[in-house]
Amino acid sequence: MREGSNIRKAEGSFHWEGVEPLSYKEEGSAPFKAITRQVLFDRPELGCELRYFEMQPGGHSTLERHEHVHAVMIFRGGGTCLVGAEVRGVAAPDLVFIPPLTWHQFRASADEPFGFLCMVNTERDKPQLPSEDELRRLRQDPAIGAFLDG
Ligand code: MN
Repeated sequence: MREGSNIRKAEGSFHWEGVEPLSYKEEGSAPFKAITRQVLFDRPELGCELRYFEMQPGGHSTLERHEHVHAVMIFRGGGTCLVGAEVRGVAAPDLVFIPPLTWHQFRASADEPFGFLCMVNTERDKPQLPSEDELRRLRQDPAIGAFLDG
């Protein structure tokens, strides 16, 4: 990367100069599988961050909800997402908005990596995980149950 440059070139497949792939969350803090996080933009002037998440085939993000919102663009491959009561297949370059306090999760398909860009406010509340009761309520919808079972 050139010192002081505002341009960071892509390096290889879905990596960028000066961007380190990070573990998705602190180990053991929430259930997830085979997913990495890269923070592409984290500038105080923006008030938001742009991250790139990538799951290996069969991987998934954490099932969670929070007050803050996400603006998501599918960037690589395809998979399935849950947003509130909606379960739907998505592929690049589909768009997904996650409203406040809405259960959401992304699951990769079995045969290819699944990546998405996610814009989020810098100042944000901590994600909530579903209680046993909330999971039971979610599973009353057979489509959501099938989604959660992968
Ligand atoms: Mn989230």
